[in-house]
Amino acid sequence: MNAIPSIKLIDGKATAKRVLAEVGEQVQALRQAGVQPALAVVLVGCDAASQVYVRNKVLRAEEVGIRSLEHRLPGDTSQAHLLALIERLNRDREINGILVQLPLPGHIDEHRVLQTIDPLKDVDGFHSANVGGLAQGRDVLTPCTPSGCMRLLRDACGELRGKHAVVVGRSNIVGKPMAALLLQADCTVTMVHSRSHDLPALCRQADIVVAAVGKPGLIGADWLKPGAVVIDVGINRIEEAGQSRLVGDVDLAAALTQVAAITPVPGGVGPMTIAYLMKNTLLALDLQQQAAHQERTSCLSPC
Ligand code: NAD
Repeated sequence: MNAIPSIKLIDGKATAKRVLAEVGEQVQALRQAGVQPALAVVLVGCDAASQVYVRNKVLRAEEVGIRSLEHRLPGDTSQAHLLALIERLNRDREINGILVQLPLPGHIDEHRVLQTIDPLKDVDGFHSANVGGLAQGRDVLTPCTPSGCMRLLRDACGELRGKHAVVVGRSNIVGKPMAALLLQADCTVTMVHSRSHDLPALCRQADIVVAAVGKPGLIGADWLKPGAVVIDVGINRIEEAGQSRLVGDVDLAAALTQVAAITPVPGGVGPMTIAYLMKNTLLALDLQQQAAHQERTSCLSPC
């Protein structure tokens, strides 16, 4: 196979490393000022993939100097017990970010759990207050994966204003917040999904394609306009010649004949998600400090 021209591959690992270094410097400055940022990670049950994700999040937090607290609860934990833990973490002034690892066991109402997290500590950006705030273009905590994709896009494209972006997939975690962030960056945004007609024709109009579907190699070269920039969020495990490997939603080898730049899988979007979780923990701390300041000044005001 011919070597892939590396200039076309967007190096998410290297960018994530830079983001983590920026976060590390900010944490150091905060600690010198006597402030210790802290992230609480809650895992219910023993889903193998979730355990790996949680372990990686905790390790990354430690690397950048963020204090991390792991709460591992058994799979039969009651909803009431989980909600009580979240309320305790909400009240704890030393905790700045709360992340509940998804998916939760079937007997727990995921929406109820996410709505219980204080929106100012909601580092995943899944609380309705943050989802609504993002839709209104306010400064709120936004989901980590799409936020990481935006950083990769800004680095790859420079100015995003006026570009036509097509987002494939409309999940609450990736597709919808991605479209909102692109809109906020003045892109013209089209969202396509499993019920859209003629996806290849819609994608071919795009300067930017963001694929968040979960179907290996769905997007081929004939879906892409020459010179497009492609962000492949999909992570799919496939078996090939008796070997298991990870691929994205885009047929990478085929796409490379068309695109200006593309994220590989693995090594593209994946590392950015954790980096933005760390960034969000600092943003959460900042929002909490602003809210505390506002509270103090409103108490002091004569009326
Ligand atoms: P999801 O299953 O919640 O949503 C998938 C979306 O794709 C749906 O909106 C559906 O309408 C759309 N879809 C399904 N089939 C389609 C088709 N044939 N054509 C067009 N659209 C179709 O998935 P998700 O949580 O948004 O995740 C999507 C992918 O991204 C998965 O592979 C997931 O593993 C990956 N992911 C990666 C990261 C990361 O950090 N890199 C983070 C989150 C998700």
